[in-house]
Amino acid sequence: MTTTSTTQTPKRKAQPQVRRKHIPQRTCVGCRAVEGKRGLVRVVRTPDQGVVIDPTGKRSGRGAYVHADPACWETALKGRLEHALKTTLTPAEREGLAAYGKSLPPVELPPGESHV
Ligand SMILES: [Zn+2]
Repeated sequence: MTTTSTTQTPKRKAQPQVRRKHIPQRTCVGCRAVEGKRGLVRVVRTPDQGVVIDPTGKRSGRGAYVHADPACWETALKGRLEHALKTTLTPAEREGLAAYGKSLPPVELPPGESHV
């Protein structure tokens, strides 16, 4: 008698994970619009350098997002940014951020979508 013992261990087959493209949604502290990270500039409160702009998006610290749009920076600097970062901006920080916002090119509508 030959018993082919097939020990059936319930193998957990690694299921191919359905990779859904996850686009992180961020809220602009200026206009409060929720958007993907694209088009938003990260501002981060660092422990050693105060509030700085984080073009890489990789600095650690409490961050907030503002559209690359001068109008959003203006609104954000009226208090919403401080609120989002839970801090008070020093005059120098405020000035630096305001200057950054003003240096941004005004957002233009894509061609063909002009409101007439
Ligand atoms: Zn905005």
